[in-house]
Amino acid sequence: MDNNTNNINENNDNKKEKIFNRLAYFLITASILFAILLLANNSLISNFFNDSENKSFDYRQSLLVKHRHLKPNKDIVIIAIDDGSYEYILDKYGEWPISRAVYSKIIERVEADNPKALIFDLMFIKSFKSKPAEDALLAKTMSKYDNIYTAINFDSQSPDVRKPAVLPSRMAVNVENDTGKADIEGYFGYPNCRTILSEILDSNVKVGMININRSPDGIIRQVPVFAYYNGKYYPHLTLLAGTTILNNGVPIKNYKIDKHANLIANAIKIPLTNTGEVVLNWYGPSMRTYRNIPFHKLIKSINGDSSIENYNFKDKIVLIGTTASSLFDTKSVPIDKIYPGVEIHATYMNNLLDNSFIKKSTPFTNAVIILLLVFAVSFIVFKSSSAVIATTSTVLLCAAYNLATYYVMSLFNLWIQVVVPLFVVLLTFAISYLAKYLLKSKDFEYQYRLATTDGLTELYNHRYFQDALRKQIDMSRRYEHEFSLIILDIDFFKKFNDTYGHQVGDSVLRTVAHVLKKNTRATDYVCRYGGEEMSIILPQTAKEEAIINAQRICDAVAHTPLKVNNTTEVNITISLGVSTFPYDGDSPQKIIEKADKALYYAKEHGRNQVGILNDNE
Ligand code: GH3
Ligand code: MG
Ligand code: MG
Repeated sequence: MDNNTNNINENNDNKKEKIFNRLAYFLITASILFAILLLANNSLISNFFNDSENKSFDYRQSLLVKHRHLKPNKDIVIIAIDDGSYEYILDKYGEWPISRAVYSKIIERVEADNPKALIFDLMFIKSFKSKPAEDALLAKTMSKYDNIYTAINFDSQSPDVRKPAVLPSRMAVNVENDTGKADIEGYFGYPNCRTILSEILDSNVKVGMININRSPDGIIRQVPVFAYYNGKYYPHLTLLAGTTILNNGVPIKNYKIDKHANLIANAIKIPLTNTGEVVLNWYGPSMRTYRNIPFHKLIKSINGDSSIENYNFKDKIVLIGTTASSLFDTKSVPIDKIYPGVEIHATYMNNLLDNSFIKKSTPFTNAVIILLLVFAVSFIVFKSSSAVIATTSTVLLCAAYNLATYYVMSLFNLWIQVVVPLFVVLLTFAISYLAKYLLKSKDFEYQYRLATTDGLTELYNHRYFQDALRKQIDMSRRYEHEFSLIILDIDFFKKFNDTYGHQVGDSVLRTVAHVLKKNTRATDYVCRYGGEEMSIILPQTAKEEAIINAQRICDAVAHTPLKVNNTTEVNITISLGVSTFPYDGDSPQKIIEKADKALYYAKEHGRNQVGILNDNE
């Protein structure tokens, strides 16, 4: 009987534990999600995370440039207006920009070799230095060839200052962008445009835009594909040239952005960001990746200087641009602090030719990764027996994750987030630890309760009673206090059990325990001594006071009606004995013996009373 009841109680406790555990897991998940949401909604913090993520991208790219050795396209050649050329130009022509007749000469020279493309990363704007005849000659020379490209730039200049240029419709392309996954209009929509030579605009020369949009830290990681101006899309110079080359020299007029933010043009498929940009994959450092031909050497060679090698541009993709630091067309890129704009175009072109643009992992992928990491870390923390193992495993997990993101970028050109997932790992680690120790302390409490209390009455058990009594003797001796002990026994309980059954007997035991607790102080120890006997230790209580207390308990039990079935209520009584330290003894045995004696005195003298012994008894 006893065992059964205890089992039921333990089952209830197990259920409670399970509910508590579930609650803990729920709280962990909820607080992590809450923290993430909170952080994502704070622009200062989300900027910090974005910046850090960008830096981690730069770091990966720098390592990849060093160790991966992506082979740059050998056909890409740069005619560089470098520092030497700039000095040569100032020396020879006395001014910058130089006479546009020089470009006409260069065009004729390069085109003589039959290149794939000749791309000017230069804008031929009207200026007060323009010589109309030379401008006309340049436009005419350019339009002789169908593989020449030049640049234009959009901006936000007020129309009061400058009238927005009207661009020929041939420059625009069709973009089917109705999924909204790449917000070109939002990020690369411009109200104004500076015009270039009308002779070029009016000819068949291919014109592409060269707008950029730096990350907040000033580093160029991504470049746009289109600018949006007056309701039309204008392709980026390199996109225009690159897709034309890939399409066997025929410019592509129709583009589509699919629901995964891929830019589709004929057989070309390029991953875009939500801002309508491509993320560049870097092939190598400035000046050492693509062949650089100094502008002044080319001019000297054109002018018949035989000491200069004879350049061959056959089938080359030739980019012309400034690399001179004094011309300020340099930018910071992930792998280099100083990188000329024209080399960024070369990288863009190389990415196009190899289809090696970086694809950013989608928010869904990021969420899945984060969930897996949260699961892994909480698993590690909950399953590992020591903090050292848990910490080491988590650090190893982070290292493995970092390494994985590096190889994924190397092999699949995929940019998987590092910063937020690692932050979440840290957070999960901390919260899981907290939860684990909360659960542990809860478990400890539970074990302690099991060890010290009686399952039926929830009073302290016999072992605890013995400990408490010993301690009470020590304390009272040390501080020279008295204390009393009450032992009580239910009257005719055997008969009661026989009449009403043990189940009812058990509930009577619980009721008596309840009455005892109600009629004692919080500082008293109410224990189940064994069977239907109970004991109460009353610290700092003299005998007279304890007897009054015992009498009160005796009355309270006698006046508590007990329901034995649906229709019958009965009353039971108890007999009690009191002993006091140090008068009745100074050891547990003696004190218990004395209280027992008093209890039997009560039994012998009619029960339902507190037994009082004469001093000599
Ligand atoms: P008295 O003390 O007045 O002399 O008579 P009594 O019948 O109470 O005496 P005794 O000590 O012989 O009987 C104690 C009875 O208490 C025996 C047992 O059936 C009952 N008992 C002891 N522990 C439990 C318990 O956990 N549950 C129930 N239902 N009964 C118990
Ligand atoms: Mg008994
Ligand atoms: Mg009894």
